[in-house]
Amino acid sequence: MDTNLINIINKLQDAFATVGASNPVDLPQIVVIGSQSSGKSSVLENIVGRDFLPRGTGIVTRRPLVLQLYNNKTPKVMPNAKGGDAPVEEWGEFLHLPGQIFTDFNKIRQEIANETDLKTGKNAGISPSPINLRIFSPNVLTLTLVDLPGLTKVPVGDQPKDIEKQIRDMIMKYITKPNAIILAVTAANTDLANSDGLKLALEIDPKGTRTIGVLTKVDLMDRGTDVIDILAGRVISLVLGYVPVVNRGQKDISNNKSITTALEAEKEYFESHPSYKSKAEFCGSPFLSKKLNMLLMKHIRNTLPEIKSKIQAALAKYQAELSQLGDPLDDESTHQSNMVLSIITEFCNDYRTVLEGKARDLSTYELSGGARIGFVFHEVFANAVRNIDPFDQVKDVDIRTILYNSSGSSPSLFVGTTAFEVIVKQQIRRLEEPSQKCIALVYDELVRILSQLLTKQLFKRFPGLKDQFHAVVVGFFKKAMVPTSKLVQDVVSMEANYINTAHPDFLSGHKAMAMVNDRLNPRPATPNEPKAASAGNRGSGVNLPTPNSAAIENAPSSGFFTSFFPRKTKSSVMEAPPTMLKASGTLSEREQVETEIIKLLIQSYFNIVKRTVIDMVPKAIVLNLITRSKEELQRELLRELYNSDVLDDLLKESDFTQQRRKECKKMIKALQKADEVILDQISS
Ligand code: GDP
Ligand code: MG
Repeated sequence: MDTNLINIINKLQDAFATVGASNPVDLPQIVVIGSQSSGKSSVLENIVGRDFLPRGTGIVTRRPLVLQLYNNKTPKVMPNAKGGDAPVEEWGEFLHLPGQIFTDFNKIRQEIANETDLKTGKNAGISPSPINLRIFSPNVLTLTLVDLPGLTKVPVGDQPKDIEKQIRDMIMKYITKPNAIILAVTAANTDLANSDGLKLALEIDPKGTRTIGVLTKVDLMDRGTDVIDILAGRVISLVLGYVPVVNRGQKDISNNKSITTALEAEKEYFESHPSYKSKAEFCGSPFLSKKLNMLLMKHIRNTLPEIKSKIQAALAKYQAELSQLGDPLDDESTHQSNMVLSIITEFCNDYRTVLEGKARDLSTYELSGGARIGFVFHEVFANAVRNIDPFDQVKDVDIRTILYNSSGSSPSLFVGTTAFEVIVKQQIRRLEEPSQKCIALVYDELVRILSQLLTKQLFKRFPGLKDQFHAVVVGFFKKAMVPTSKLVQDVVSMEANYINTAHPDFLSGHKAMAMVNDRLNPRPATPNEPKAASAGNRGSGVNLPTPNSAAIENAPSSGFFTSFFPRKTKSSVMEAPPTMLKASGTLSEREQVETEIIKLLIQSYFNIVKRTVIDMVPKAIVLNLITRSKEELQRELLRELYNSDVLDDLLKESDFTQQRRKECKKMIKALQKADEVILDQISS
């Protein structure tokens, strides 16, 4: 085989081996076909340059031989006779004899013969089951050659009746592969027009782009005849042409004539023959090899652009990864502290950006950062507060009880006031729990943002730095939680502590009473409150109007209790208190009216407080947790981490990073080398 070709393939292979890929050039398989005893095995042997195939008269090759050549430069160390080591450059291995090394090529030939007999019997039987032989050598191309039984027509010995078809099918299996180069072998002393091999090849490869005609036994032609007409394409023309060869005859085989001697004799034959001597360079086994090499070369050239783009894609990938990994740090402390400083600055910028929703990679399918916190405030928290029903815990009976209890001995004028305040304050305190929960949810979101920011490559590179960042930032959040929690608690306490019945949105006593009267006795208007009644939602049936509807909010609300309770006491006769605290039975009409009025007022006031809390709690959290973290986190990080004592630990690269950087550099070097090799080939 052409050493130049071997070199190119080797270089490419070496380049790709470092990349972890196998042979990038998938070389064609070379398949020999032809009639029995036309000289197929002899031709193959000459191409490989070693004696190892059984050859001879009659049917010798009776099973396909798949011969895988491996270019290998590492000698095999074998024990020699004296117990020492003997390196071997060339050896063979059979697939059916794993681990057995054949250094004697005569033994390889013997094993092929034995293994053939084993499957087919000694009496000329055939088998499609291939024998796989691998040859390792520094002098061969990594390439597959296939030797096949010859085409025959009449069964002999143990051969089946349909031997012609069986062999034909066997051959078809190998030559139909588009990657196969077909060597169609015909003995020159037979009629080319009768060549079964050539016929079959042209059936499969009608354009003749992968068929080479080989004419053997030129030396056995009748005196005065030659193959000049065939070579000139005047008999059956082939795109890739014919090559005449002279292999060793049966006598040469019996005499153990070496391949080198045989090749010299072949050369001598063509150079001295009157018909061929003018074109001797286009004759013989070396020219056949050259032709094959040219075909392989063409194949490689065709594959080069694809290999080149593969190499360049890989190169770009590794270069990008290397720059992500960054350069290894020197130990100089100013360099290290600058690094930490810029990491802190960048982290804080990123943190603010995420919170403010200005991140460049804003997701389209998922809320992130600040938007998630907004969702906690406006959806989760606001809804939780809105859904608190003041009367899910306070039943009408309880209100009546409180009404009576709170009256005590004080004038009945204030009965309603106290009951109202007791119940409203109780309900307002219920807002404390969702408010504190809201802080916890926001905290979770902040930690989530932190974790996201810490997935950056830089923190993978310095795991110590990542741990410290996490600890410092989480610590900061926890510290900020304390005043936040206190402020939120105060917001709720402020509401619970002072009930502002003068709030402009609060329902007026008159209106409440009119609404209740309207509901309980649906008539045009109460004689006492014609105006209020007409202002109310008359005709709304049993449904109480919601106290925070716009009409009520805008109504004048002066003198709620004074406008309402004197009238109530006037209309009520003094009655004996119930004997039981929790009186059962139906409420009296007055009790019913009072209870409904109190409920209406509680609901009105509670809604005002809910709105305030929904508004104020997020503000408190933003002030003490979010804004503070945006403003003070950087200072905190600098204080804890920008400190020469800890720099070494912080900036210790992870093993992964160090390892990966080495790998990337190695890959880049190998790929650049491979790229050069390809460039040489393309431009040569
Ligand atoms: P296969 O059956 O096609 O594989 O043919 P072989 O390679 O086994 O060869 C068949 C016989 O022909 C052997 O005895 C060879 O020595 C002989 N032979 C093959 N090629 C030539 C040649 O070019 N010249 C001469 N004189 N004999 C050859
Ligand atoms: Mg053979």
